[in-house]
Amino acid sequence: MTETPEERAAALPHLRRGRLKKGDPVPLPLTMASIYHLPGDPAGFSQYGRFDNQTWEATEELLAHLEDAEAVAFPSGMAAITAVFLSVLKSGDRLLLPTDGYYTPRVFAERFLNGLGITVETRPTAEFLEGGFAGYRMVFVETPSNPGLALCDLEKVAREAHAAGALVVADNTTMTPYGQRPLDLGADMVVAADTKATNGHSDALFGHVASRDPALIASVREWRTLSGAIPGPFEAWLVHRGLETLEVRFERMCNSAETIAERLAGHPAVAAVSFPGLPHHPQHELARRQMLCCGFLIGLTLASAENAERFIDTCSLIQPATSFGGVHSSAERRARWGDAVAPGFVRMSVGCEPVEELWKAMSAALDALV
Ligand SMILES: *Cc1c(COP(=O)(O)O)cnc(C)c1O
Repeated sequence: MTETPEERAAALPHLRRGRLKKGDPVPLPLTMASIYHLPGDPAGFSQYGRFDNQTWEATEELLAHLEDAEAVAFPSGMAAITAVFLSVLKSGDRLLLPTDGYYTPRVFAERFLNGLGITVETRPTAEFLEGGFAGYRMVFVETPSNPGLALCDLEKVAREAHAAGALVVADNTTMTPYGQRPLDLGADMVVAADTKATNGHSDALFGHVASRDPALIASVREWRTLSGAIPGPFEAWLVHRGLETLEVRFERMCNSAETIAERLAGHPAVAAVSFPGLPHHPQHELARRQMLCCGFLIGLTLASAENAERFIDTCSLIQPATSFGGVHSSAERRARWGDAVAPGFVRMSVGCEPVEELWKAMSAALDALV
């Protein structure tokens, strides 16, 4: 059963319909409960708030529908990622991470996995296939990488890693299941920070793990129950609401990003633009093949750190903020966090503003720099 993105998007707001009884609320009720009414034999019922919650389950149902795989929700993207590490990796295992991906998994691995006897190695995303995967227990990829937007071929990584006996985990935060489908390309597990575009309103942290391997997902679920890294019901409720509009927001954001990236590349104040949808992106062809669209993140390099800060601060339709995927466009200079990028490199997250208005505000701020 391979559904199209349109079929998945159309069915999503109706998933609860078949279970509603006459007079039930159509929108998802928020269940705030640590305990449940539980006389006698507890088997088969909601038992305790660390084990199950009806609001998480409804959010997981939407995520599972989009991923076409079982999904387990977590209180943040990092909680999902560390659940994957700690439920799979054992002393003596080797883990491969991207050098240029989201930095917190690398810091976590150095700070906590090394001490458990797990060897952590890194490799740049664009050269991820170089050197093969022999001897690794887990290969963790992030494509396009955040913030540099380098790509690697997920299908090839999965094929070669599996031949070497490694599990493949893909962080799909930047693309969402509407933009890229790592499980369809062979990854064993997907992790994502639903904090970003999935929730989309910058008011909650959330994450999930999805997999079609029942043993892997059972182990992740057991990790959550025993470690207590459970999502809050209210955050789950917010993400459920966000998921209902993800497709329309994502489409607007990605279409606008295509327009904005092309115009930025032609602006005299902009030294370089990194966007997988531009023909000069070193992996443009892979992007068009592997991704359903090219995402809503754009890297742009201005002449100096000062110009970058001035652009971000003076553009009336850009929110100076870290993180991405909100309804508002936002941007930040990544070198302020120590990323290995030029001082004038800005990561911009294109939001839901009408694109011509957004470009008007951006080009006014850029014109003032020339
Ligand atoms: C933000 C982010 C995370 C971490 O998510 P949190 O919800 O902040 O824990 C992981 N991976 C990527 C690619 C991210 O952008």
